[in-house]
Amino acid sequence: MPNRPLQLAPMSRNVDKAKIVRQHLEMDDFFTAGFTPKGRKTRQEQMQAEKSALELEKIADQVRQCRKCGLGSLRLNAVPGEGNPAARIFFVGEGPGADEDAQGRPFVGRAGQLLDKIIAAMGLNRSDVFIGNVLKCRPPDNRDPKPDEIISCLPYLQRQIELINPDIIVALGAHAARTLLDTNKPIGQLRGRFHEYYAGIGRPPVKLMATYHTAYLLRNYSDENRKRVWEDMKKVLAELGLPVPQTGRK
Ligand code: URA
Repeated sequence: MPNRPLQLAPMSRNVDKAKIVRQHLEMDDFFTAGFTPKGRKTRQEQMQAEKSALELEKIADQVRQCRKCGLGSLRLNAVPGEGNPAARIFFVGEGPGADEDAQGRPFVGRAGQLLDKIIAAMGLNRSDVFIGNVLKCRPPDNRDPKPDEIISCLPYLQRQIELINPDIIVALGAHAARTLLDTNKPIGQLRGRFHEYYAGIGRPPVKLMATYHTAYLLRNYSDENRKRVWEDMKKVLAELGLPVPQTGRK
């Protein structure tokens, strides 16, 4: 038989994103059918999430092209956020650090590894939740976000929250909590209880739990601070009606 070159189907320029998302959700639904949904929503809500996934991807594209503030020209990669479009919990951090800037993904450095451990301790996976930031681009030397940067970037986060419509937002640290609650109160006063995030006129408020940022926890590690964050996460689980796993330590 003559040696014929391998014929590969030409790559379609018009990738059917809707089909890919639908297949993903169908497969997900198949493998989780019959199990109690953990951090996830019902089937009907999953269908809504299918639409949201496409819209979220559009937002991510806009973020990647954004030049609304000076950070747009300093970044290696924008970090739009990632996760389950049907997430019941939306974790919001401050802004990307060096690792996130290098990879274009949120919470992948040391603070992210600790967040992964917290999510696992909650009995969830990273793929159950959505993770994003107030700022989508890294501020130089990880300095605090400036007000004009927050004002430019906040609409992206607001639209992500609106689309995902989580049951609970977990604001990690002072910048996320203060921005979303429009307050100047210190994180020590805000953490540990539920607040209301107003998603817009005519929409019911979303419960928001403020807690310490994982980077703060790493810098100021103590039994007390660790326990405080875990107590906050236990309240989140209880509010969602999810089981509270026992951790090895008190
Ligand atoms: N800190 C944040 O606030 N966000 C990240 O994505 C990583 C670290």
